[in-house]
Amino acid sequence: MAKKMCKQCKRLVIGDKCPICQTDKLNESWKGRVIIIDADKSEIAKKMKLDTAGEYALR
Ligand SMILES: [Zn+2]
Repeated sequence: MAKKMCKQCKRLVIGDKCPICQTDKLNESWKGRVIIIDADKSEIAKKMKLDTAGEYALR
């Protein structure tokens, strides 16, 4: 199943709802992805204002 990007937190989710935001506002047209292992030490996480580890979409 294709993963979708949550419009609120940019997290990649499987299914019809973001488990973090509980929103069904998902976008299927994302162009890339980034996996954050340690949000505190990741420069990309800082730039994208991400504060938790996870798999996120780039547009
Ligand atoms: Zn979300």
